[in-house]
Amino acid sequence: LEYAYIMTECVYLDCNATTPLEPSVREKLIQWSCDEIGNPGSRTHEFGLRAKRAVQWSRLQVAKVVNASSDEVLFTSGATESNNIAILGLAPFGDTSGKRHLVTTSIEHKSVLEPVEMLEARGFEVSVLKADRTGSVSPKDIRSALRPDTLLVSVMHVNNETGVRQPIDKIAREMDGHNAFFHVDAAQGFGKDLVPLRSRRIDLISVSSHKIYGPVGVGALIARRRGFERPPLTPLLYGGGQENGLRPGTLPTALITSLGEAARTGGHDAAQREECCIAIRQKALAALAPLGIRIHGDPDLCLPHVLNFSIEGIDSEALMLAVKHLVAVSNGSACTSQSYKPSHVLQAMGLPVSSVSGAIRISWCHMTPNINWHLLADAIRALR
Ligand code: PMP
Repeated sequence: LEYAYIMTECVYLDCNATTPLEPSVREKLIQWSCDEIGNPGSRTHEFGLRAKRAVQWSRLQVAKVVNASSDEVLFTSGATESNNIAILGLAPFGDTSGKRHLVTTSIEHKSVLEPVEMLEARGFEVSVLKADRTGSVSPKDIRSALRPDTLLVSVMHVNNETGVRQPIDKIAREMDGHNAFFHVDAAQGFGKDLVPLRSRRIDLISVSSHKIYGPVGVGALIARRRGFERPPLTPLLYGGGQENGLRPGTLPTALITSLGEAARTGGHDAAQREECCIAIRQKALAALAPLGIRIHGDPDLCLPHVLNFSIEGIDSEALMLAVKHLVAVSNGSACTSQSYKPSHVLQAMGLPVSSVSGAIRISWCHMTPNINWHLLADAIRALR
């Protein structure tokens, strides 16, 4: 057995933190980093025009995934920036219109919670709704929180720690007849769980490339028009006027075309990828269930590539250490793991302290190689 341990290569099981590159995305990245040149803003020569066409193609690919039109897609550096533009960028309109109330949830990513806190410090009122034990927020709670002066409702699509899909379609229905803007941080679900994001009631959608097999450092904010009107966003940066003045700066063609290809393959291959992930999940559960794992987040609501669990009496740090040579896993969100704090998501779900401190998140994808799940289970069993 020991020999097998030494021979086994460590498998990456942290796809919710960042995913490997899809091979066709890698080709785009190399093409536009190494073989092509041209600033998409250069109108005076063919090099610039080619780059501009490539960017426009990518815009269309991103738009298609959610049935938006390409002029509603704004490229950013990632979902963190998209979330910031969506939230902070609406604030000046809130100030002038007197709408200074925000609704969000306690299981959001910090890139939503912190801009919301910034606005709270500036005098906005904020309703932060809790999730229940299943890891889900209640559409009815959202409806009850709405006020005549509600500017924005921001609810994530899929939670990054538990993989639980939030009831976005139901929330959209509850918001019918109210004119608050609806922002969805879709970093973990865009290109995977396709249908909910197509609702026209969603005004703003944040997208991250490196969660959908694209490179890190690029993302998008989809800002849907209501009739002819665009959401009244104010930019956070000023400069060259790119992206309708909302996100100035030279467009990174290599990153954007890679995101375009990632979106195209996501839209096209979502069902097939999901099948692969379901098969991996079944194997994982077959090996881990006999250890008495407690799954965090309702498995029926979870995307099939994530498993967040704990085992009574086993600390997450000890578990990660024990399986380090086999698999790379995490105990929460990569963004906050430098200073390890108990997960705010699991706490908001009301899970007991032992579940929170023992939580392990494993997340895989259609490119994840075979794993010897039984070897993994043995390594965990040895901790007892
Ligand atoms: N929102 C969620 C739900 C996420 O999981 C992440 C990435 N951990 C982000 C936002 C931030 O995305 P990015 O890394 O593209 O800034």
